[in-house]
Amino acid sequence: HYNFCAGPAALPAPVLERAREELLDYQGRGLSVMEMSHRSPEFVAIAEQAEADLRELLAIPDNYRVLFLQGGASLQFSMVPMNLLGQGGSANFLYTGIWGKKALAEAERLGFPVHLAGTSEPSGHAEVPRPGQIALSADAAYLHYTANETIGGLEFDYIPEVEAPLVCDMSSSILSGPLDVSRFGLIYAGAQKNIGPAGLTLVIVRDDLLDRARAPIPSLFDYRGLAEAGSMVNTPPTFSWYLAGLVFQWLKHDIGGLAAMDAINARKAAKLYAAIDASDLYSNPIAARSRSRMNVPFVLADARLDTLFLDEADAAGLLNLKGHRSVGGMRASLYNAVPEAGVDALIDFMADFERRHG
Ligand code: PLP
Repeated sequence: HYNFCAGPAALPAPVLERAREELLDYQGRGLSVMEMSHRSPEFVAIAEQAEADLRELLAIPDNYRVLFLQGGASLQFSMVPMNLLGQGGSANFLYTGIWGKKALAEAERLGFPVHLAGTSEPSGHAEVPRPGQIALSADAAYLHYTANETIGGLEFDYIPEVEAPLVCDMSSSILSGPLDVSRFGLIYAGAQKNIGPAGLTLVIVRDDLLDRARAPIPSLFDYRGLAEAGSMVNTPPTFSWYLAGLVFQWLKHDIGGLAAMDAINARKAAKLYAAIDASDLYSNPIAARSRSRMNVPFVLADARLDTLFLDEADAAGLLNLKGHRSVGGMRASLYNAVPEAGVDALIDFMADFERRHG
């Protein structure tokens, strides 16, 4: 079967197999990783290897810290303003869909000044704003945007160039291809799409942004303290961290790095969009340049066929194609762990369904 779930998403089969082999006895220690102290030499080695592999994959410069946290990407909606607005200024946002709006709302909820610096709203969130349509406030402490809107299926095809530090929610696009980390002040991502299982949140933050917090801040929310403690202020999500490390190994050794991953993902998305565009039954409303490579929403011309489509897909082993509850229709998430053969199988199924019911 193939799992097109938007999150928690499919994990690479070799990663799950390795985890199964090691589940009861990690490297002859007679213990599961789940049963190890996070301060044991064995786990510290796992944690350090995961960070080293991630740094290598993304070519993360030395002046960035990598944090392995909890609370999901959603907690970063609060932690980012709490940590970056302590010296005044406002949080600037690009609003291109549901997740970006939630991030903005969370900063507002905490009483921070916010400024909407650009939005795809006039297009019905079908096209990301062009560089010329982004206007920061004079007091911008940072610009936050969502690289890929997981629900709308809208992805930035460029990295905005602005004076203020760039903060990016990359939950559903990180590791889908190479990335110039040096363009960003801070990157964060919930793990449960391209990184590993739920329960882990990745933050990559430039050194100079560690000391801008608004005091008092809970110590578990304080980037400086978390960085100093190697993300071990308290017990980290050890098993998720370990599995993320296995995913990084898979990306390095089985896939051959992020350029290779990028090529696979480009082919997967291109062929699915081409199939949708060529059909009379399926459609996707997003402007070509803003189409997401990871999340492909589509609707059937006759919504009465939705249930039948999902039932037949499920029976054919094509799982979790139902669109987000807020938008309906279908969504195929094509994260790294979905192989090209899975996309081919989906396209064949869609064509066959159209022949029979279109
Ligand atoms: N941001 C984006 C782009 C997402 O896709 C999601 C979840 O799907 C979130 C944030 C929220 O993530 P979490 O559930 O880890 O808080």
